[in-house]
Amino acid sequence: MDRLRVLSAHLEPTAARGAANEDGTGVQRRDVRAVEEYEGFPQAQTMVIFPPAVSDVFRFDDLLSAEERGIRNRTRAFMEKEIAPVIADFWERAEFPHHLIPRLATLGLGGATLTGYGCPGQSMLGAAMGVTEVARVDGSISTFFLVHNSLAVLTIGLLGSEEQKRELLPHMAQLQLIGAWGLTEPSNGSDASALTTTARKVDGGWVLNGRKRWIGNATFADVICIWARNTDTKQVNCFIVRKGAKGLRTEKIQNKISLRCVQNADIYLDNCFVADSARLPGVNSFKDTNKVLAISRIMVAWQPVGLAMGVYDMCARYVRERRQFGAPLGAFQLVQERLSRMLGDVQAMFLMAWRLSVLHEQGKMTHEAASMAKAWTTLRGREVVALGRELLGGNGIVADFLVAKAFCDMEAYYTYEGTYDVNVLVAGRGITSSAAFRAPPPRQANAQVQA
Ligand SMILES: Cc1cc2nc3c(=O)[nH]c(=O)nc-3n(C[C@H](O)[C@H](O)[C@H](O)COP(=O)(O)OP(=O)(O)OC[C@H]3O[C@@H](n4cnc5c(N)ncnc54)[C@H](O)[C@@H]3O)c2cc1C
Repeated sequence: MDRLRVLSAHLEPTAARGAANEDGTGVQRRDVRAVEEYEGFPQAQTMVIFPPAVSDVFRFDDLLSAEERGIRNRTRAFMEKEIAPVIADFWERAEFPHHLIPRLATLGLGGATLTGYGCPGQSMLGAAMGVTEVARVDGSISTFFLVHNSLAVLTIGLLGSEEQKRELLPHMAQLQLIGAWGLTEPSNGSDASALTTTARKVDGGWVLNGRKRWIGNATFADVICIWARNTDTKQVNCFIVRKGAKGLRTEKIQNKISLRCVQNADIYLDNCFVADSARLPGVNSFKDTNKVLAISRIMVAWQPVGLAMGVYDMCARYVRERRQFGAPLGAFQLVQERLSRMLGDVQAMFLMAWRLSVLHEQGKMTHEAASMAKAWTTLRGREVVALGRELLGGNGIVADFLVAKAFCDMEAYYTYEGTYDVNVLVAGRGITSSAAFRAPPPRQANAQVQA
């Protein structure tokens, strides 16, 4: 049997978590031996040896160009070989694998769809394949890229000055400078356009004051795009705040159950001065923020596709390896029903996200379509990871088998970049021409009596 063969050397998280080691990464090297040697996990391989990709039964591969397939293939190979063996350990410790950033840079995903300034000018689908394949192995690393590429880099590329683009983008494309993107505030999440962080014009620059919450990569980012309200015009503007700026403080959000490697931060801006050159000239109102979100939402719609693909692949292998009642789990009818439902979901999710990307490339995508796709892929994604979690029994709650990690990570995808609710309300507005974001005025206490 394949699974009994001795496997080649890989990186393997240590049992002594966080123990010091030669390369200072907190990850110990040791040979991965035959699966049977792991007492706790008989009859099944962990994600250290990543399962083969088997979810493309409808051959959506044929929908990709050679270039897009190339991005997909090299990202998949890299993630399976270099990230899968170590990432569960980082996830458990809620740490980001900083030492891997130079290796991640070699993937050529930095800069994604932007052209010029050292960026690769990928097609929307090419960039989506990068996001998806990264998420197939790890949701956190996918979000690291998403925040950097589809929020920070994109904002500077679309709305920054020539000087800002020339200075920052080539280094951001190489991941020598890492970006973060600060829109959400403690009191303004779904209602982000009501943000209250202020930007006051002073001699030679701007003074920023306020709080941001949930900002991915922010504890270590070199460049943070901060969205703030101009006290003169009352409109939303955007400013580049550099690491170490006086008046900037970041604090890591602790105890997350989802995307644990992502370093989400609370940001404190206390009389933080930035020069005039830090203001992005292309941002004059929240409408400009939406130009970025319209594109990043496409990428977020792909992330659950990647997570779900990985979970399906893991389950497809697991049910062959794990035996109960004298047969592999895959022989049982109930297991097959779950697998079949998962596979249908994964493929339908791919198709909707693919169509959304193509519509964008053709200039035909609407905000409503993007929101519907993001809401729907996260909804179906939740079903896939929940079914996968069930299929793995007890191992479904152990991060080493990928599924538990993906199960938790899907929750953040369901919530960020517009919650499921907010996105279906955007879609609903398109369907009915009636916006339902605002609560109706409270009824008078005696209204019922009068009626
Ligand atoms: C892991 C993670 C990473 C993130 N990264 C970033 C980042 O890098 N940068 C950034 O700026 N932000 C980031 N965010 C913030 C994210 O976009 C917000 O969390 C999200 O928009 C929801 O806001 P909230 O958490 O304040 O929830 P709330 O807005 O308080 O919503 C709470 C609940 O109420 C529901 N709700 C709200 N309004 C309505 C309505 N009108 N009708 C019906 N239901 C409603 C919501 O759907 C939700 O279920 C991140 C969040 C997470 C969890």
